[in-house]
Amino acid sequence: LTIPFIHDLSVTHEQAVELSPLVRVVTAANEGPYTYTGTGSFIVGRGRVAIIDPGPDTPAHIDALLAATKGEDISHILVTHTHRDHSPAARPLSEASGAPILAFSAHGGGRHAGLGGEQVEEGADYDFQPHKQMHDGDSIGDTEWRLEAVYTPGHTSNHLCFYLPQEKTLFTGDHVMGWATSVIIPPDGDMALYMESLNKLLKLDLEFLRPCHGAAIPDPKNFIKALISHRKAREQEILGAVAGGLDTVAAMVENIYAHVPEVLHPAASRSALAHLIDLIGQKKIICKGSPTLASRYEVL
Ligand SMILES: [Zn+2]
Repeated sequence: LTIPFIHDLSVTHEQAVELSPLVRVVTAANEGPYTYTGTGSFIVGRGRVAIIDPGPDTPAHIDALLAATKGEDISHILVTHTHRDHSPAARPLSEASGAPILAFSAHGGGRHAGLGGEQVEEGADYDFQPHKQMHDGDSIGDTEWRLEAVYTPGHTSNHLCFYLPQEKTLFTGDHVMGWATSVIIPPDGDMALYMESLNKLLKLDLEFLRPCHGAAIPDPKNFIKALISHRKAREQEILGAVAGGLDTVAAMVENIYAHVPEVLHPAASRSALAHLIDLIGQKKIICKGSPTLASRYEVL
């Protein structure tokens, strides 16, 4: 089962593009190997609007969001998670508009206690603080538009998706992306939770997924099911690799991710580690000490 990714490079940067009666997007010019064509910041509503994922803190992007909403009232700034391509513009946009920032937590706020010492993650926005926390089921808005938080830990421990019932649309942040699989980086990223959070989406009444990177996804259930089966297949590959004597992350990545461009190998290593931690939790493999990129793994 292949994942029906959409590879559409025709993106307009730093200008509002109409997507549906209630949704516009302004895509930041921060394209790259992890951000694809750039971070999409969504404007939801007309006249009174919410902004989902204000994106990177660059003057061009903040100016573009303010220009796109000129004459409108920004009532809320919602943040799916605290990665630097999603959350840093929240504070300057809040200062410029007076709108409060809502999110699950500061970075790492959803992580299980007792996972060991603090590890600095590349790409995390440690400065982020919401004015108000949003948890699973919390919502803002009214009959015109409503956005409901769906807690989806996995990509990060504080990841929220936002459901817009008026358009049966889910804003998926980086939980589900239109162009590639999400990167799961331990310790804040957690593969077991990620899989649970994918399954959770199957219960929603959905017509569209709108990820922050890549095109809208028109057939949500099939897409999500394909993502789940892809991860399960990858897990089996890793289990098979360990059983076959490939006992380090480096050896596994060389074998399993051979088709992946080398620039993405550090991310692939961390994804492999995320699977290994999940497999340890399932009592299928073991390693001495706490699992790291340098540990040696064997089947149980
Ligand atoms: Zn992210």
